[in-house]
Amino acid sequence: GHVAIAIDGPAASGKSTIARELSKRLGLVMVNSGTMYRAVTWKVVKDGIDAENPAAVAEALEKMNLQCGVDGLDSTLTVDGIDPGEELRSQEVNAHVSHVAAVPEVRRHLVDLQRSYLQHSDVIMEGRDIGSAVFPDTPYKIYVDADPSVRQGRREAIGEIDSVTDRDRKDSQRETDPLKVADGARVLDNSGHTVETAVEAALEILIQ
Ligand code: C5P
Repeated sequence: GHVAIAIDGPAASGKSTIARELSKRLGLVMVNSGTMYRAVTWKVVKDGIDAENPAAVAEALEKMNLQCGVDGLDSTLTVDGIDPGEELRSQEVNAHVSHVAAVPEVRRHLVDLQRSYLQHSDVIMEGRDIGSAVFPDTPYKIYVDADPSVRQGRREAIGEIDSVTDRDRKDSQRETDPLKVADGARVLDNSGHTVETAVEAALEILIQ
């Protein structure tokens, strides 16, 4: 079978940067699972559906055609044939995504899509519940964390200041597959690292 490397952690911990570097160095397809939750949220918001109404979100999901694929080492995604691109990072999506991601039907559907990647290739997948819920049996699990002050700086760099704390709180407190350190995961404290040393630390964890 194929191998999955799970990289989880809170927002602005630097996990995407680490995952992308690992993907390049190891030649593994990189899947950012947050993009999928963002895509569902983008469509919900665009269609004027109340993101805080779980039944309405679940109904909207039923009608959505979410397609995921691979292009080289990158993953691709369309919603009803459209790639939302940079709109996935809008403040509006940031503000609503944790509500949408807490809907059990949404999680079930996206976890299935995430697992389906393994039918075709090895993957490095980053998110909140990859080691705990999506690929609980993989031996390759890293939880990336960083000090609040370091994460604050990263938040400002990505232009998202207020909603990150709020998202982390919602993501940690939801009932279905909350953000947490998965069983068997090794914590990588990214506070004092450069990209280079963080990737070295991640590789060391993976070869142990
Ligand atoms: O990683 P990113 O910040 O793009 O994720 C956006 C949001 O998607 C998270 O705040 C969380 O609500 C949701 N998410 C999730 N489970 C994942 C990945 C992301 O609930 N595996």
